Amino acid sequence: MPALPDLEPLAEAMTAWRRDLHAHPELGFEEHRTAALVARALRAAGIEVAEGIAGTGVVGTLRGTGAGGGGNRAIGLRADMDALAMQEATGAPWASRSPGRMHACGHDGHTAMLLGAATWLSANRDRFAGTVQLIFQPAEESRGGAGAMLAAGLFERFPVDAVYALHNLPGLPLGTVAVPPGPVLASSDTWEVTFRGRGTHGAKPHLGTDATLAAAAFIVALQTIVARNLDPMEAGVVSVGHLAAGHPEAPNVIPAEVLVRGTARALSAPVRDLLEGRIGAIARGTAASHGVEASPVYTRRLPPTVNHAAQAALLHRAAGATLGSDRARDHHPPITAGEDFALLLEARPGAYAWLGTGDPAHPEGWHHNPRFDFNDAALPAGAALLCGIVEAELGA
Ligand SMILES: [Zn+2]
Ligand SMILES: [Zn+2]
Repeated sequence: MPALPDLEPLAEAMTAWRRDLHAHPELGFEEHRTAALVARALRAAGIEVAEGIAGTGVVGTLRGTGAGGGGNRAIGLRADMDALAMQEATGAPWASRSPGRMHACGHDGHTAMLLGAATWLSANRDRFAGTVQLIFQPAEESRGGAGAMLAAGLFERFPVDAVYALHNLPGLPLGTVAVPPGPVLASSDTWEVTFRGRGTHGAKPHLGTDATLAAAAFIVALQTIVARNLDPMEAGVVSVGHLAAGHPEAPNVIPAEVLVRGTARALSAPVRDLLEGRIGAIARGTAASHGVEASPVYTRRLPPTVNHAAQAALLHRAAGATLGSDRARDHHPPITAGEDFALLLEARPGAYAWLGTGDPAHPEGWHHNPRFDFNDAALPAGAALLCGIVEAELGA
């Protein structure tokens, strides 16, 4: 099994890639420079490269020569490459050179770690049999990159028996890995309800039907879903994020139409179904009691990210063997953010792990804040773990 010291010699190269990517952040499906850097680094390591998958996606294919080069098994390792539409405030020498663009989720680090692992694995092909598909995915941040790669035939062109990914986590100590056997992240769906009544003069409410009052009652009743319909041992979130009614210059008009939009999160398919069903039922019921109409629309965007138990156990073993058993955890509380790796886990067995980047010497704070900067000290641990997963799966 590879150990942390095996990957330390690549720390400098990984840091250089990471800071180069950080200085040149690109939004989802616009990762042209990033994809070119990835393809160049993979080719420099002697790895076969396919570009332009779902636009800016890149896949490197690496065949092991261990056990006489046999081995029909294949696994996928996935890194996301995109940045966020935010203004950076780190002041780092490698800070974003693109105004309003920033690597605030550490995908620059994920890409650099997978490049480091690819480089090491290519130089150590005799240590595994079978195939590693190095999947560099565009557009993880709510832009549909994983779905687009699947639609472009990702697993038909590059078949895998299992798929793995890491995400940095500042809340976990540096170099510690946590991989729960079940839910890791929540589903991420949006919904909207339009309430339609009969608009009227603000002074003569009896001449119309008030869509605003119905919407207000709906918003209050919405919170009974989690409080009263959901098993107290389960988790779910329903939040309102947008509310539009009337015109600011017309406070004396009861508007005919009100739009309410929000998000819903769940850690399992049954809870997701429950949230969808109850949002619609409460909207229609509230509207009926107020004499207005409701048109609820629920849009399923991402399912929950749920690890497969066998692959989570394998990843946990690989983390223990490469980083030390004191740095490998087989549990972590689920997080209510969403992640499109969920779609890859619906298509193939696999696991998603948290890689700790928490470090008093590097107080970058949480993801998606303007001072966030991936902790380069975690690069060798992340790359070592990726190599460890390959040996645990395909070891010669
Ligand atoms: Zn993010
Ligand atoms: Zn992220």
